[in-house]
Amino acid sequence: MHQRTPIVGGNWKMNTDLASAVELADDVVAGCAQLVQHCDIAVFPPFPYLQAVGKTLGHHGILLGAQDVYYESNGAFTGEVSGEMLVDLNVAIVLCGHSERRHVLGEDDQLVNLKARAALDAGLWITLCIGETIEQREAARTEEITLGQLQAGLDDVPIEQMRQVVIAYEPVWAIGTGRNATPEDAQAAHKAIRERLGDLYDQSVADSTRIQYGGSVKANNAAELFAQPDVDGFLVGGASLKSQEFVAIVKAAAKADHLARR
Ligand code: PEP
Repeated sequence: MHQRTPIVGGNWKMNTDLASAVELADDVVAGCAQLVQHCDIAVFPPFPYLQAVGKTLGHHGILLGAQDVYYESNGAFTGEVSGEMLVDLNVAIVLCGHSERRHVLGEDDQLVNLKARAALDAGLWITLCIGETIEQREAARTEEITLGQLQAGLDDVPIEQMRQVVIAYEPVWAIGTGRNATPEDAQAAHKAIRERLGDLYDQSVADSTRIQYGGSVKANNAAELFAQPDVDGFLVGGASLKSQEFVAIVKAAAKADHLARR
């Protein structure tokens, strides 16, 4: 079976202040620095704290992530931040199409794709977030929506850049709600996503692309989700603000016995 390095990200959203962001980063380093050989680990602080958090992460191997990116390199785009600027701050990975950007801030598939391509061209990894709303799930449209967002988000992304791409399946109804998909629901969606990656690219891309699950992941449900064969890690919101919870989730994904089964 294909070996995929697990990947866990902590999306801090619009939370923390400068002091608590640095403290949280410090605690993540203390709890996770030994785990980076087994699992890719990223934290996504708010933009203003990227530099301070990056300094705290130092050279311990934990990736600095950004929550968003604009698709132009520079110019008259007040308030926006380019991929090149993120690279300048040692950011390694950026979220594209998080459901809060899609559903609260109005980003559509076309904008998500522009951002994804610009970030990839700047040399960043991306986490492309996809997932259905509760209305879409109840209308049995989960695959149609999720795979549609996958295809649109990756439009014109060449196969050579797919090694920079991580997919996060995040059902919107499970984000920040305390409800999460059952391991079987998550596995079904992840399997469909992997198959579509095979159709869009090839079997090697399907086998090697990491697919994270996101939506109310906690220390007490991470292991059973990670036990699913197509779940390669997590994108964690609320629980990533508590270092102990986050470290426990990373440990669930970094366990050698799970890896042996992949
Ligand atoms: C997220 O922000 O991507 C997320 C999954 O949030 P939460 O873990 O709080 O549901």
